Amino acid sequence: MRMRPILATIHLDALRHNLAIVKKIAPKSNVMAVVKANAYGHGLLRVAKGLAETDGFAVLGINEAISLREAGYKQTIMLLEGVFEADELELAAQWALSIVVHNEQQMAILENVVLSQPIEIFLKMNTGMNRLGFRPQVYATQIQRLSKLANVKNIVMMTHFAAADEDSGISEALAKFHEATQTFSYQTSVANSAALLRYPESHTDWVRPGIMLYGATPVSGQAATSFGLKPAMQLTTEIIAVQTLQAGESVGYGHTFTAKELTRVGIVACGYADGYPRHAPSGTPIAINGKVTKTLGRVSMDMLFADISDILEADVGSAVELWGAQVTVDAVAEASGTVGYELLCAVAPRVPFEVI
Ligand code: PLP
Repeated sequence: MRMRPILATIHLDALRHNLAIVKKIAPKSNVMAVVKANAYGHGLLRVAKGLAETDGFAVLGINEAISLREAGYKQTIMLLEGVFEADELELAAQWALSIVVHNEQQMAILENVVLSQPIEIFLKMNTGMNRLGFRPQVYATQIQRLSKLANVKNIVMMTHFAAADEDSGISEALAKFHEATQTFSYQTSVANSAALLRYPESHTDWVRPGIMLYGATPVSGQAATSFGLKPAMQLTTEIIAVQTLQAGESVGYGHTFTAKELTRVGIVACGYADGYPRHAPSGTPIAINGKVTKTLGRVSMDMLFADISDILEADVGSAVELWGAQVTVDAVAEASGTVGYELLCAVAPRVPFEVI
């Protein structure tokens, strides 16, 4: 039976290479590889294999954490949003997970249960993102509360930057963090990928890279390759039909692209139901037989269109790279008004994966 040709290939060597870059940039820090959202769409256990040398993994849900433990990973595994119920907290303790504590409700659960074994806490400070965490003014009080609990075996003080990738940077947030934590000697964790790449002062006890491990850029306008990163995912497919447009003819829904001259169009087996962004405009880069060209017209559910006028040998069966090393996911994202993170996470369940 013929399968659709679309395929997401995960390159374990690229994951290993990107992790080595993290370790080279922040040699004194422990690495907490952020593998939430099914490892940014790459597949949790697939990616864990490539990142086996990491010091820790960060996930969102307890099920993801348990599946990593069941697969044999003994490193620190932390739950980025913590737990919200007492039985979940006990489960986290039993699986030796570390948890973020970011609000009063979580603090109260910790204070009011007796756990079968003590647990490591990443106590989160809100330094300006205003998403999760305790404000700097009340942070010391929370540390003091935690330090009294038999349920708590270790504390790591953490924050997450709102603008590590922007010109405004991290200095204000980091100053707040230092001021509120200076009297304590616990470990700290502040850096995401952008901070790690841009601000050596963020290389504290634990760095928490996500997107850079997958080889995409955390800093828009700055290519991942400029940081030496390699794409972990390559999304490929084939041309399944060819049309030749006369000048004045258009292609796809809504006639959004009309040929000004004779144009050869490759009909590509990938659409928005595979996770390719529907709002990618005509002109988005795409590679055919290793040559970079551009998409034409509107992306449909199962197909999109590529200009193959200058790729004379291109025909049915020709190889297409939607993103990977020839066309970066960041380039497709930029053309589509989004970020590589979103495209990687959105690869649809119907797309088969292979790991090499
Ligand atoms: N730390 C926290 C708390 C996060 O929520 C995330 C991701 O959003 C990261 C680290 C990793 O961020 P990035 O993928 O930008 O490196």
